[in-house]
Parts: sequence; C-alpha cells; structure tokens
Amino acid sequence: MRELPERMSEKLYHDNYIPDETLKLRKKFRAFAEKELFPIAYEFGQRTESNENFPMELFKSMAKKGFFKVPHKKKDGGLGLKFPACAAATLAEELAYISASFSGSVNAHFLLAGVSLAQGSNYIKRNYLAPLMECEAIGSFAMTEPQSGSDVRPDSLITKATKTKGGYIVSGQKRYITNAGIADYTATLVELNGKSCMFVIDMNSKGVSVSEPDKKLGNRGELTYDIYFDKVRVPKENLIGEEGDGIKNCLTALMYGRTGIGAAGVGMAQSAFDESASYMKERKAFGKPISQFQHWQFLMAERTIEIENARNLYIKSGLRIDGGEKFPIVESSGAKFYGSKISVDMARDAVQIFGGYGLMVELAHDKSTYKVEEIYRDSKVGEIYEGSNEIHKMVIAREIFGR
Ligand SMILES: Cc1cc2nc3c(=O)[nH]c(=O)nc-3n(C[C@H](O)[C@H](O)[C@H](O)COP(=O)(O)OP(=O)(O)OC[C@H]3O[C@@H](n4cnc5c(N)ncnc54)[C@H](O)[C@@H]3O)c2cc1C
Repeated sequence: MRELPERMSEKLYHDNYIPDETLKLRKKFRAFAEKELFPIAYEFGQRTESNENFPMELFKSMAKKGFFKVPHKKKDGGLGLKFPACAAATLAEELAYISASFSGSVNAHFLLAGVSLAQGSNYIKRNYLAPLMECEAIGSFAMTEPQSGSDVRPDSLITKATKTKGGYIVSGQKRYITNAGIADYTATLVELNGKSCMFVIDMNSKGVSVSEPDKKLGNRGELTYDIYFDKVRVPKENLIGEEGDGIKNCLTALMYGRTGIGAAGVGMAQSAFDESASYMKERKAFGKPISQFQHWQFLMAERTIEIENARNLYIKSGLRIDGGEKFPIVESSGAKFYGSKISVDMARDAVQIFGGYGLMVELAHDKSTYKVEEIYRDSKVGEIYEGSNEIHKMVIAREIFGR
C-alpha cells in the first residue's frame, strides 16, 4: 500500500479563524479518511465504473459517526452545529485529500440531496432526510439534463410535471446524476406550467429507470447515470417547498455544495502539493535534490500562497452561510472557482515534478503506484460541475455590473 506523504499544511497553514467546533470535527474526519478510506482509495480511484464499486460500507461507517448529520439542525435530527457549512466543507477537504471520487459521492448524498430535503415539509424530513442521515437510504440530486446543464431555467428543462388529483405526473430525463443507480430517491428539478419545482422522487416508482454508470476520465469512484422518468406518479407530499421554489431550493443546496467543491479542490491541491514536496526532497538531478532548484522552489512558494487563499475562501464562504447569509455569491462562487482551479494547476505541476513517474498508474517493474496521475484526472471535473467556472465568473460579474 502507498504511504501518505508528510502533511505540509500542518507546517504552513495556521488555523487562525477556523471555528474550534470545526477543528474538533476535522480531527474526526481526518481519522476516518486516513484509517478507513485510505486503504481502499487507490482501488476506488482506478476501477472502471460499476454499481458494485459503490462504497456502501464506508457510507455506513460515516453514518455511524454522525457525519451525514453535519449540515442539519437538531430539530431535524441533525447535529445542530453552530458552523454546519464550515464543518461540511472541511469534511469535503479531508475526504478529497485521500480520494476525490469518494468526496464527490458523499457530497451528492449528504449535501446536495440532504440540504434539498431539509427544505421540505416535516413529512419529507421524516421519511426522506432521516433515513439519508442514518444511511438507511442513499440520496441523489438531479438538476442537469442531456441538452442543458448550465441553463436550468424552467423553459430549458425537458423534465416536466403535470398536475393530477393528489399529485403530479413527471416525464423527462436527467444526466450525469451522481449515485442515481444506487440511490433510493432523488431530489429532482422539474418544470411545471413555466415554473420550476423540486420533487423528491422514489427511484423504485413505476416509470423510473436508470442507465449503466458512465465511463469517465476521472472521478471513477463517483458513479454517474442518466435517469429516465416515464409518466411517473409523484404524490403531492413529495413537492419540496412550494411550486416555483425549484431553483431556489437547488441554489440553497448548491451554496453548501459549491463551498464543498472549493474545499475538495483544496484537498486535492494539498495532496498533490504534499506528494510533490516529499518527492522533490528525494529525487536528484545534476547531483542535487530537485527541491534545490529555484524554479521549483518559486513554484511551490506560489502554490503555498494559493492553497492558503483557497482554504481561507471556502472557510469564509462557510462562515457567511453559517452566519445566516442565504446566498453569499461572491464567496461561494469564488471558493468553488478558486479551489477547483488551483487543484487543476497543482495537479499539472505535480505530474511535471514527478516526470515519467507522474504518468504511472502502476510501474510494471515493482508495481509501485503514484497518486498524482489520479489527482490530474480527478481535479478537472471541479471546474465543470456545480456550475462551470465560466458560470461562476458570470455570477460574480453580475454582482459588479448588475444583470
Ligand atoms: C462527474 C460528474 C458528476 C455530476 N453530478 C451531477 C449531479 O449529481 N447532479 C446534477 O444535476 N448534475 C451533475 N453533473 C452535471 C454538471 O453539474 C454539469 O455538467 C455542469 O453543470 C455543466 O453543464 P453541461 O455539462 O451541460 O455544460 P453546458 O451547460 O453545456 O456548458 C458547456 C460549456 O459552455 C460554457 N457556458 C455555458 N453557458 C455559458 C455562458 N453564459 N457564458 C460562458 N460560457 C458558458 C460552460 O462554462 C461550459 O464550458 C455532474 C457532472 C459530472 C461530470
């Protein structure tokens, strides 16, 4: 098994304004990630996508530790933290440091689906949110469609509802939905008479089917699927909030989700950084360690500053959400944009620093494996999902110039 490199954040990053509550939880998250996730992380990141690869045992273990209760209020069965968004994002960083794939699956389950359901009625919280927190059920969040991901205005959606006595009938299709093939239900964005609505739909309802998992460049442990809805009857109790609340519900979940994607980017960047720092001290060229070449020293110094900034930014986004700000656009979009960007930048540098080893999944000579190629593949999706980075620049620009 691979060994973990020295954690350089312990030396370089100072936790001045991360809440004590979050720091205490971070210890628990890190212990789980290192003890339980790390032993399977290589396999998890390399195997071709298939339903059997879903890490149910690890999900169950997380539920036992109460991790899926992190974002939720006490009255909803959650931990009732003072800083739930900070804690949820820190969990994403700790998991992504070890396995970005795993972090992606977990975020879809407990943050995107979980926070969507928390906006529903007591009936929804009791029947859908509670089992999700205990991992008696797996959740997914379905917004994207084959023809449209960035543009999810009601007119652009092909997943449509019509009203009937006692409920709704939903038909349409969703794409790239994390966990859908394993999930028990999905929080789904749907068009109804020109308005957007969110329903929680049971995956075993008549008329719901899913594809095989997609085969992807990276994040192979995060399983994504198409969902097909063919005249699915949805009881009226399964509407989350009111008719017309769909986009608002999605955005509320995405505030947590995007802060989490920024944090996952920090986790990947830190991992690529630590792998690089450790390798550079050992690997020699022209009679001295690579770490002694000023070119790489300057680059690592720059990356140190960027990782510091990205971590500060996602924590600030979390602090603003936890302070009661519903849509802290600049910080949440900024955290998502910047964290995902530096993970891609650092992963590219790490592959370069490792030279030929940077490309190795497994070296034939001695079966040794190298984490940086996985981070190189996994980091890219951070710039695309939960709003592409162009969309995040667009929404920040709106704050500057208006619509
Ligand atoms: C591994 C993975 C997991 C995912 N999990 C989920 C999930 O669980 N649930 C879910 O709902 N979705 C999920 N997605 C979908 C993801 O959120 C979308 O892929 C993303 O929102 C982008 O949408 P799109 O792929 O349709 O790209 P498009 O919207 O078609 O965009 C294509 C390109 O055009 C650019 N673009 C679009 N509009 C503008 C504009 N106005 N100005 C400038 N550029 C623009 C985009 O930035 C992008 O570069 C997942 C995707 C992946 C790859």
